[in-house]
Amino acid sequence: MAQCLIPGCNNPAPYYLGVRLRRPAGRHASGRRRPSGTAIWAPNCDANLCAVHASQGYKIEITLTPLATRQITTETDAGGTPIVKTTSINHYP
Ligand SMILES: [Zn+2]
Repeated sequence: MAQCLIPGCNNPAPYYLGVRLRRPAGRHASGRRRPSGTAIWAPNCDANLCAVHASQGYKIEITLTPLATRQITTETDAGGTPIVKTTSINHYP
């Protein structure tokens, strides 16, 4: 079982954090309707929380640093060691 992101917590931590860049509703190049909410990218951050800490509330700070790598790197922490994960972007707008 994954470890909870909160330092010192040893509870099982099945709840995982992700970020998503959603598309608006529109049309595919083929003309087929595309519903709102599909994602260009949506990596899992490999950062987990336990049931106790999942709903306590958080202030989340988001800083986007532009890259030209077609990758998304997330760095997540709750006061402990940051968890860094890099994934490729496989879709286009
Ligand atoms: Zn916890």
